[in-house]
Amino acid sequence: MEGKNDEQSHILVLFYPVQGHMNPMLQFSKRLAAKGQKVTMVSTTPASKTMKPGSFRRNLNIEIISDGSEQTPQGSSESLEKSVQRCETEIPKSLNQLIKNIKNNSEENGKYPLKFLVYHYSMPWAFNIAREHGIDAGPFYTTPASVKTICYQYHKGILKLPLENPTTKLPSLPPLQLEDLPSFLSDPNTDPAFIKLAMRQFTNLSEVRWIFHSTFEKLEHEVLEWMANQNLPVKAIGPTVPSMYLDNRLEDDKDYGLNLFEPNVEICMNWLDSKEAGSVVYASFGSLANLTQEQFEELAWGLCNSNHSFLWVVRESEKEKLPANFEGQIAEKGLVVTWCKQLQVLSHKAVGCFLTHCGWNSALEALSLGVPMVGMPHQADHPTVAKYVKDVWKVGVRVKVNEGSVMKEEISACIKKVMDKDEGKEFRNAALVWKELAREAMEMGGSSDKNIEEFLSKIKST
Ligand code: UDP
Repeated sequence: MEGKNDEQSHILVLFYPVQGHMNPMLQFSKRLAAKGQKVTMVSTTPASKTMKPGSFRRNLNIEIISDGSEQTPQGSSESLEKSVQRCETEIPKSLNQLIKNIKNNSEENGKYPLKFLVYHYSMPWAFNIAREHGIDAGPFYTTPASVKTICYQYHKGILKLPLENPTTKLPSLPPLQLEDLPSFLSDPNTDPAFIKLAMRQFTNLSEVRWIFHSTFEKLEHEVLEWMANQNLPVKAIGPTVPSMYLDNRLEDDKDYGLNLFEPNVEICMNWLDSKEAGSVVYASFGSLANLTQEQFEELAWGLCNSNHSFLWVVRESEKEKLPANFEGQIAEKGLVVTWCKQLQVLSHKAVGCFLTHCGWNSALEALSLGVPMVGMPHQADHPTVAKYVKDVWKVGVRVKVNEGSVMKEEISACIKKVMDKDEGKEFRNAALVWKELAREAMEMGGSSDKNIEEFLSKIKST
């Protein structure tokens, strides 16, 4: 067991059951467990149906509680408001019961006193539940700190919409244009009810003593510092990528271990093994993106016309959007799979660049593995991540949008630029620098490791 926190506390980690939000909280749970704590990851009924827990540590468990629904968020036709309402009524009931059961188990509670509830930031009500049971709690942000800062500044009236000038300069953020803001702020069609809902994450933020972020100090230094100066107790604890790809201190931690989709591992690896180093474009839009038919076709031909081999993840639910006989036409040049083990793919020497929707996990994974990116943001926090990819971290390019779509010529041109031996060099070099900084943050005594140690030593003494 690594780490020096020998006294064991019991920590609950309440997930939001979507792949990209579970992965970082799962990794944080593993880190806490590796430092000797008992950790119970709490997820809701629908997710349990598709979850495939890997072999976790003895002191890392999953408890499934009810959210009153039978469907995964991905497969549900329920409106957002309805689903939020249901979760806010049902999850507190089952969470209360779970905490009661744990506290009533005196033998267990004597050995590992229940000390803390880490909850997904979209569930701010969990804070009060924890406090009612006499334990402390804090939110976990699975989005970039920059995006949280933008939303916070909007909440505080520092960012005013619509923007008065084409470019706006907000404290601690790079100059931003409308297209760089999270889509729910920049898109005039966003339902105001949704924005109101999203802003509720800040309601009790001034009361919490810990705010966890799946990022690392050097990656988002300015925004983290700015938030700390607002008296927000932010702690960067990432990157939340399996240890084998970073510091390698957690035994056998080479995979997230929870898959909401079935990966095509062997097919991908065999195909990549047959390709030359740095010759393949890996393309994926994560677990949720739903591109239009038109955009899908542009993407298909953009990849195809880039003249590079490509491995493209097209989820089962999106497959019908592929051009007719696409797989037949691309032959050996491209491989289309319904899901892969992204970390294994990104770390394969054949992969030269990542065409990504700029989901936060995907970006963190690419940075941690030193892979340059072509950012093709889709929605939510993706535009801001794409801005940072291109202009702050300088690890790639961002596609230009033309009347709502990205044309195939633009996609091919961006891929060619990043893959080019000369033009792409600056991106590859920058990506390697971030890879090293990511590893450093998670190493013993690194900035994120120190934050985790500090958290554990403080809760031990409460
Ligand atoms: N992922 C994966 N296999 C795939 C595509 C994605 O394992 O074929 C993982 C990826 O490694 C990441 C997560 O799914 O951890 C996607 O999260 P992200 O935040 O990038 O996007 P989201 O799915 O939330 O839009």
